[in-house]
Amino acid sequence: MGLVVQKFGGSSLRDADRVMEAARKAIQAKSAGNQVIVVVSAQGSATDDLIARAGEITARPSAREMDMLLATGEQVSIALTAMAIHELGEKAVSFTGPQIGIVTDSTHRKARIKKINTQRLRDALDDGNIVIVAGFQGIDEQLDITTLGRGGSDTTAVAVAAAMKLVGAEVECEIYTDVDGVYTTDPRIVAEARKMDAISYDEMLEMASMGAGVMHSRSIEFAKKFDVPLIVRNSLSDALGTRIIPESDWMREIPVCGAALAADEARLILEGVPDRPGVSHRVFAALAEASIAVDMIAQSAGGGGKATIGFTVLNAELDRTIRTLRPIADDLGATLRETGKVSKVSVVGAGMRTHTGVAERMFAALAAANINMKMITTGDIKISVLIEEDPSAIAAESGEIPKEKLKQTHMDVRKAVLGRKALRAVHAAFGLAQPRKGAGVPADGAFKNRPAPLLVPGTKDREAAIARLEGMEDVLVSSVHLNPDQSRITIHDLPDQPGNCSRVFSAVATGGIIVDMIVQNMTAPGKAELSFTVPAADLTRALKRTQDVVRLIDPTCRVIGDGDITVLFVLGVGMRTHTGVARRMFGVLADRGINISMINTSEVCVSVVVERSRGEEALALLREEFRIE
Ligand code: ASP
Ligand code: MG
Repeated sequence: MGLVVQKFGGSSLRDADRVMEAARKAIQAKSAGNQVIVVVSAQGSATDDLIARAGEITARPSAREMDMLLATGEQVSIALTAMAIHELGEKAVSFTGPQIGIVTDSTHRKARIKKINTQRLRDALDDGNIVIVAGFQGIDEQLDITTLGRGGSDTTAVAVAAAMKLVGAEVECEIYTDVDGVYTTDPRIVAEARKMDAISYDEMLEMASMGAGVMHSRSIEFAKKFDVPLIVRNSLSDALGTRIIPESDWMREIPVCGAALAADEARLILEGVPDRPGVSHRVFAALAEASIAVDMIAQSAGGGGKATIGFTVLNAELDRTIRTLRPIADDLGATLRETGKVSKVSVVGAGMRTHTGVAERMFAALAAANINMKMITTGDIKISVLIEEDPSAIAAESGEIPKEKLKQTHMDVRKAVLGRKALRAVHAAFGLAQPRKGAGVPADGAFKNRPAPLLVPGTKDREAAIARLEGMEDVLVSSVHLNPDQSRITIHDLPDQPGNCSRVFSAVATGGIIVDMIVQNMTAPGKAELSFTVPAADLTRALKRTQDVVRLIDPTCRVIGDGDITVLFVLGVGMRTHTGVARRMFGVLADRGINISMINTSEVCVSVVVERSRGEEALALLREEFRIE
């Protein structure tokens, strides 16, 4: 018998009618011959209301007591949902997280799941019950109640599904929410946005991290790690929703499947940093220590032994970041600068693994819209660019978001005038309004004919890595690789104007040369440094093409080709929600005096460029650090 885990979010349980509706969905799944577990969030805005009540008493509630308080929201929902199912004549029983042994660490308000004891769940299911489980909560080893962080019920649902799968159940997990599924981009900003039928775990992880707020990132990490098929559906309709599944060949028929705008990040620049091993480690270790997640990182080698590090953090963390880094900057003799409001626009697609010229297409679209890029970073399946907002444009515009949608749009997004324009430009450039090619998704039995195993990382590597985990939610580093066949080209002092990157990459792409990593950073006022890697065999050709085009842009730019590099990459799951991976990586390399000259991060991959002569040594160090045989 199959097992369906259904998760209902707060809006899907807002009032008694909606609770009855959820109960009906659960009964329907049971009548179709499945065992059913229902995971619920607190009703409507219950969690926010509880937070507000704490705020009436203290500005600084203890985290332990906050968890005690917040966990009550979900406890209300489980009882009501069980009663609703009883009312409709079916058997149901409700459990809190602690009652079914959802054991977490002790980080109150942000706890991570260590293990789930499935015995009680299984007994209740075998007794013929629909089992209702409170999302978002668990219990630590001291038997204190914990919560998983805002939006954590998704994580509970997928974790319960994963735990049941580990004991042999054939599971699928349905996430009920108030939208029809996952869209190619935010439909409030781009009217042509289209609901996707299917998306891979990695694509969804990147979309989620970019602000496509349909699901909690940690829940998708769980799904990918334990291979739990997910489907996001509207609780008010029978529409098919969006399936989130392992990557398969057809997904790579198009280069890009989605685009996103993040308007809640701030950019910082650390200028005049000594260019020697261990410096970036010091900077990012300090941030990791303070649990500040860094998003984009671009480090440029600069001249005269000095480097510039540009990076972004959430606006909400800006003050803390500055406080953390100021003393380090002073100590290094560097200057820490915050820039004005920025927007990040990213494109994502598994097809980037096989298609060439994706960056070029994106940059050309932005150039045509006369949008300037301040920073560029790439991951294995995404490209992100940072755009500086123009304060005068912000004042003038906001009328283009339809009135009825304005209320639901966050202030940051309303101010992201150029960000929205850029998002529309790339959505159109990649034809995202058209149905995804190859997505002939079978209506039934789809999960049974699951496509081939994941590309990244290999199934064997992943299983071995899972076996080494202590807690279910620990970061999973499944493999470390060396790619010695890359060389790098760096352009110094590229004028900071719209269109220049586009011209460079178009010149390289017309030579049929595949560009892999790209990092662009600002080094001096009005000047950018652009580095990218190309196959070593194409270095001479790529260099010639770059020099020719750069000469037309500005003859004073310097172009340097470097064949003496090697790329190392670490693959896994949870690399960004666990800030420690990049830190450990930089740490072991720094300890041995291995200099990192380029960094790219994504949800599933961190890559760094080091000197070629130290590549094998670095590989061995990282394998040892992450305990990979
Ligand atoms: N009720 C919690 C929150 O609002 C958990 C959830 O909804 O997933 O954050
Ligand atoms: Mg909620």
